[in-house]
Amino acid sequence: MLNRRNFIKTTLAGSAFLALPTTGRAFFGHSPERIVILHTSDLHSQIDPFPDNHSRFPGMGGFARRAALISSIRKENQHVLLLDSGDIFQGTPYYNFYEGRLELQLMSKMGYDASTLGNHEFDNGMESLSQQLPHATFPFVSTNYQVENTVLEGKTKPWIVIQKGKIKIGIVGLGIDPNGLVNTNNYAGLKYLDPIATGDETARMLKKNQKCHYVIALSHLGYKMSHGRVDDLTLAADTSHIDLILGGHSHRTMEEPEYVINKAGKPVAIIHSGASGVRLGRIDLVFDKGETRLESNPYQVIN
Ligand SMILES: [Zn+2]
Repeated sequence: MLNRRNFIKTTLAGSAFLALPTTGRAFFGHSPERIVILHTSDLHSQIDPFPDNHSRFPGMGGFARRAALISSIRKENQHVLLLDSGDIFQGTPYYNFYEGRLELQLMSKMGYDASTLGNHEFDNGMESLSQQLPHATFPFVSTNYQVENTVLEGKTKPWIVIQKGKIKIGIVGLGIDPNGLVNTNNYAGLKYLDPIATGDETARMLKKNQKCHYVIALSHLGYKMSHGRVDDLTLAADTSHIDLILGGHSHRTMEEPEYVINKAGKPVAIIHSGASGVRLGRIDLVFDKGETRLESNPYQVIN
């Protein structure tokens, strides 16, 4: 694979160099910038692969094999973003025993760039969650969970900006309404804000004030929900500033992103990469001549 350094070397060595414009900046400004976005959600403490006799995922998944796959993708690509959409916790005895610490330490070693809070992150209550979060060296972005004056204060971020090459990417994290889903004692003091209004306003601010070229929502709202709950489909349709929704909660696997026209008349991509770490989602963001486009890549099955 031709990486940037080799590309520069090759170009400088070739006679084409003589024909280049006098300013290198102008020349390199024309080379497309590719950011490989890798995505998981609903990992549910599935640290080991599923057993070989498992009915749905025989011998699939496992943190170690995902780590190997991620590092091989990093070797081939200069800019990689590794993101997760929540529900890291709950599902195997590892969570019962370590309360999430192991999952967060391993994801930190894998170099995750960000995750968001799913409903199951609250299964042992906020005190336990607040003790586990510092084991993650990556931020938990939670835009619509207001945690001031709770034990989580200062342990989540309302938004982040990640720069890859010349490109600034804003990230918001949108959590599901815990009412009816999480034991009320387990999120006492947390204020749930409307994900559409809060998410869109924050995305607008990221573009306007933080000069982000692109905004990704890590969503744990679910792809399509009943009983009037906000979901990814309504989030996409009723906002103007979010460009890509990496979804979770539904344990849904999508072969291709689904495009929904937003309030500004632009297409927003929604993609879900399944659950329990049996697949690694991938979508490439390409910036070329001031325009952005997504190149869909099939998810990789981990087995
Ligand atoms: Zn969930």
